[in-house]
Amino acid sequence: MKRFGIYVHIPYCLQICTYCDFVKFESRDLPPSKDYVALLQRELATRSMAFGSRELTSIYFGGGTPSLFSPEEILAVIDGIANEGFSLKSGGEVTLEVNPGTINETALARFLEIGVTRFSVGAQTFDESLLALTGRKHAVSDTMATLEMLKKHKVNYSFDLLFGLPGQRLNGVKTDVAKALEFEPSHLSAYNLTVPIKHPLNVGRASDDEQAEMFEAIEADLEAGGLLRYEVSNFAKPGFESEHNRLYWSDDAYWGLGVGAHSYIPRGDTAAVDAEAPWGIRFWNPATINSYAQELERAAGALFWSALKEDRIEKLKANEALTDFCHTALRSQQGLSIKKIEIKFGVKTAALLRSRLAASNLAPFLTMPSDDLWVLSRKGQAMADRVFEALTFLKDDGIEV
Ligand code: SF4
Repeated sequence: MKRFGIYVHIPYCLQICTYCDFVKFESRDLPPSKDYVALLQRELATRSMAFGSRELTSIYFGGGTPSLFSPEEILAVIDGIANEGFSLKSGGEVTLEVNPGTINETALARFLEIGVTRFSVGAQTFDESLLALTGRKHAVSDTMATLEMLKKHKVNYSFDLLFGLPGQRLNGVKTDVAKALEFEPSHLSAYNLTVPIKHPLNVGRASDDEQAEMFEAIEADLEAGGLLRYEVSNFAKPGFESEHNRLYWSDDAYWGLGVGAHSYIPRGDTAAVDAEAPWGIRFWNPATINSYAQELERAAGALFWSALKEDRIEKLKANEALTDFCHTALRSQQGLSIKKIEIKFGVKTAALLRSRLAASNLAPFLTMPSDDLWVLSRKGQAMADRVFEALTFLKDDGIEV
């Protein structure tokens, strides 16, 4: 059975954080949440026939701040998904992103009752002055109260830490990680702050070498605390890796519902896509609620992506599909399998990839646990962009399939 997941974007936020490049708006500028839920339900009702009845690996409510919606509103979306014939596989994952201070014990109990199996908290840092720089409204005490509550109820939860913040040094990062481990999360994501070069948050940051050191320290400290890296930025206790995130790194299909949400259907997943775009397609929804609502009126049916505007659909070429495949596979500790390349792209392409890697100077950045597999080395994790650049294939690269 092919793996398939649904992502639901909730673009409502209490504030706009200074570093954020997600599709989001302050809640006060948006329609009431019940109206947005109605739009999501309309998207489900008018577009789900494109996918047929399917078993879902996962449902992921991301944002934005999904925890600003009530459990009943989240349930209305889950019910809408079920009503369209999708069924969550036994043990399937339903994740809800949560901002500190936005859920209480009553809401937590109800979220668990309606089927949420996993929570992901935007903690970012336990340093009050650094947290203030990010523009978040919550205080460190809110973060700690939310994490305490999740820990107390023995809930499966993850949280995000940001590092490489202005003025932050290695000892500050290590303090954050030590504090994080006190909450005994089953999963943790550690992201290096990424902002445009002229962004105010770029002033006073540690050098690239220091950031690489932070990266290594985070991995070592989390590993000592029982959280193992399974992707460039993600760590989990064994068995608690995010199923939904794994879809993104394993060339599996996902459908994104809501404003700005992205979808991907790879080769071999859906007959209608294979006929139209033999190397798979990516498409995404408009980035404002008005344009999303208008498009729902227009683009519906079994091939709804064909009615999207051209600048929001990408029919992949062989070289683009190969580039994506290499990059996403290498992000994961499962690595890049030559056998899988042969199956999807043919033996000539697999040979081309081998010779490109042999001729490159990437040896320090890759390890080969077996003849068939490349995995980013510890050094490669910190320098992943260099590896990805070498494994970017252009139209003229002679990919024969
Ligand atoms: S809460 Fe999250 S989605 Fe909203 S602005 Fe901040 S970082 Fe972006």
